[in-house]
Amino acid sequence: MPGRNFLFVPGPTNVPERILRAMDRAMEDHRSSAFPELATGLLRDLRTVFKTTTGQAFLFPATGTGGWEAALVNTRSPGDRILAPRYGQFSHLWIDLAQRHGLRVDIIDVEWGEGAPADRIGEILSQDKQHEIKGVLIVHNETATGVTSDVGAVRKAIDAAQHPALLYVDGVSSIGSIDFRMDEWNVDLAITGSQKGLMLPAGLGLVCASPKALAAREHAKCPRVFFDFGDMIRANATGYFPYTPSIPMLYGLRESLDIISEEGLDNIFARHQRLAEGVRAAVRAWGGGLKLCAKAPKWYSNTVTAIMVPEGTNAADVIDVAFRRYNLALGAGLARMAGKLFRIGHLGDLNELMLLGALAGAEMAMRDVGLPVTPGAGVAAAAEHYRSTAAPVAPRAAQAQSPSLPPSPSSRAPVRA
Ligand SMILES: *Cc1c(COP(=O)(O)O)cnc(C)c1O
Repeated sequence: MPGRNFLFVPGPTNVPERILRAMDRAMEDHRSSAFPELATGLLRDLRTVFKTTTGQAFLFPATGTGGWEAALVNTRSPGDRILAPRYGQFSHLWIDLAQRHGLRVDIIDVEWGEGAPADRIGEILSQDKQHEIKGVLIVHNETATGVTSDVGAVRKAIDAAQHPALLYVDGVSSIGSIDFRMDEWNVDLAITGSQKGLMLPAGLGLVCASPKALAAREHAKCPRVFFDFGDMIRANATGYFPYTPSIPMLYGLRESLDIISEEGLDNIFARHQRLAEGVRAAVRAWGGGLKLCAKAPKWYSNTVTAIMVPEGTNAADVIDVAFRRYNLALGAGLARMAGKLFRIGHLGDLNELMLLGALAGAEMAMRDVGLPVTPGAGVAAAAEHYRSTAAPVAPRAAQAQSPSLPPSPSSRAPVRA
């Protein structure tokens, strides 16, 4: 199909040209004397993205799932009790991983479309007088339902219960796109992957551990080899890794961190919020019986919008038509949401017009499968939102406005055949 594929799944996200170019290089010796400069810089600068000065960053050749595993096996023992609300497929999978490592998980089942119930967590912890619960697992942004939870509120609930449980947070689809404050929220283990807000291909599992989390290693008996923090800490101390790192991913990450620091984290969060509000305005304007999976504005995610289609319509058909007819990739409904919703991922390297293209394609595909959405309404609503919230543009330079100026020397240069 000619033209670009419109990639609007909530990960992998679009990889900027700058990162693609940075990754396109010959392999080199990961034990050379030059290598530590790259590795040390990455481990240092990554902490900015987690908003921590006291945490220690770990880089595993893995994915977000590997990050989940690393966080748990380095700090827990089989039989440990942990508390985890479950409100979507990702919180479900993390719980499953914990159980397969022999942890006993107290699950709080929450309706999909809502987020972490801080009050309930606080109640349970305050009843746990013996401090048997060793950790609380929170998915900051539940990518399956487009729901963002209030991690700060969970921290407050843990503190109010005066409970020593470690706070584990999956920030895979939030870190680098939605405000995440490891130090301020006292997060003990924060996890992300490379293919979401960091705008890289999948291939890195990133974990940041607080001093308290690092201390917990001493008593943690879960078996670990590949994901052992200890081996990593020893090798990283001299600027190396305990095994062969993915060199292109590391150069890509270098470029990613530079791009993020050039735009500025807070500007990135504001951009994601503004883009997401346009998508939500589109969903409202479409009508057609669509509604957001997120049940209340406080849960709305700025990185992914999950759109429920009315009963009798299969959301998988919308996704299939969008892909085959318009070269647009939308996210599917996962597990119990299969067929009931489709998702628009709006995180990473993207702007207004890219998103308007995706909204146009989603609208066409919905109409193609018979959903009575108002033609043009979604794109118009989003476009008006983007216009009305656009940053002011500085006046054009006088030179560009004046047709009487002579052409610049470069434009008069003779063209050689
Ligand atoms: C994508 C994602 C994961 C899993 O990531 P993989 O890289 O596929 O292992 C975990 N949690 C959340 C919230 C995600 O969005």
